[in-house]
Amino acid sequence: MSDKKVFNSKAEKKYKRAKRSLMILHPFFGPLIVRLKPIQKVEVGTAGVDGESLFYNPEWFNTLSDQEAVCLLAHEVMHCALGHHTRRGKKDNKLWNIACDHAINILLDAHGNILPPNPVMDKKYDGWPSEKIYADIYEDQPQNPGGGAGNGMSGSGTGNSPGSNPGNGQPDPNAPGQWGQILDAPKGSEKESASDWEAATIGAVKIAQMQKSKGTNPGFADRLADMFGLYHKVSWKEVLKNFVQTSIGVDDFTWKRPGRRGLSEDLYLPHREGVKLDGVWVAIDTSGSIDDKTLQMFKTEIEGIMEMFPNSEVGLMFCDARLHNISMQSAPLDFKPKGGGGTDFRPVFNYFEEQYINPKCVIYLTDLYGSFPEEPPFYPTLWVVKDGPSKPEDHVPFGITIVLEEDDD
Ligand SMILES: [Zn+2]
Repeated sequence: MSDKKVFNSKAEKKYKRAKRSLMILHPFFGPLIVRLKPIQKVEVGTAGVDGESLFYNPEWFNTLSDQEAVCLLAHEVMHCALGHHTRRGKKDNKLWNIACDHAINILLDAHGNILPPNPVMDKKYDGWPSEKIYADIYEDQPQNPGGGAGNGMSGSGTGNSPGSNPGNGQPDPNAPGQWGQILDAPKGSEKESASDWEAATIGAVKIAQMQKSKGTNPGFADRLADMFGLYHKVSWKEVLKNFVQTSIGVDDFTWKRPGRRGLSEDLYLPHREGVKLDGVWVAIDTSGSIDDKTLQMFKTEIEGIMEMFPNSEVGLMFCDARLHNISMQSAPLDFKPKGGGGTDFRPVFNYFEEQYINPKCVIYLTDLYGSFPEEPPFYPTLWVVKDGPSKPEDHVPFGITIVLEEDDD
């Protein structure tokens, strides 16, 4: 690798600022942008992403307005969220980049984002999947599409539209489609990267839909949900983890961090050091349908999450028709399920109100057959459902649902 050693602190600050703004404008992107490691790299010309790193040319990045920089980050995250870095296959690299860019930029533009100059964007492709756009562009190619550039780029120029590459090996930032490239996932990591991104994305979309009222752009989460096809199978464990991280992160972020001074530049999310799980409450329905094996699996996952946040405690409570054994606990959790009567969810939510507790989030393990509070709480709720109704999401008046399933590995 002939990476020129660069470090541009102005660009780095700008990147952090853009990242924070993105998280505030579209909370959906919060748990996704933090997956990408920013790396300054002149050779990339503008910016590019491979699912692990977001490479950017600091000089070019500094020419963007703050709004354009935010949009660039959203653009690169969307490439990964949509699996563009793992599903190119044998398709021509340059044309694949163009096809994917149409798909993403149309959506970003429609929701009020300010795209960097010269975006690839033909509105006729609105709503088309990238593969279909690719096929359409491919057909229009005169001959020898891509001019041999389709061998997987490794961070350098990709070949270019005829005449737009001055021949110094660096892409011309002013040529359409040259910014915000999608690079193939690092060799060997494709499968893992695809499933990690899928799980994270579905978790993020669910959370964004739940927090619609908080976002500045409500329709955006729905369009993204459509685009990502929410009906992919995703592990309940991933959703649980994302739910907790986002509840802590986004709240911390949205409510405490950005003050009247504006956006400070020195914060990354999730900054786990010092972040605690305080405010996370776990409720368990003990009316009878949750068996020991399920309880054990659930407990293991909660403890796994707690390990990521040292010295943290969660609130733990058991409830059938009444509350039992309310405690604050650190890992390992001491589960003392108590109950066996009818099912009522209201005592849990009433308890917080009566005790003036503001949970960051509530995780409720249940079969959902019980009485719900009339008023939705103002904090996020995740229903982890075992042996519940077939469409649990239609059954709850608020919060999001995920079905707890046993491992098949
Ligand atoms: Zn792109």
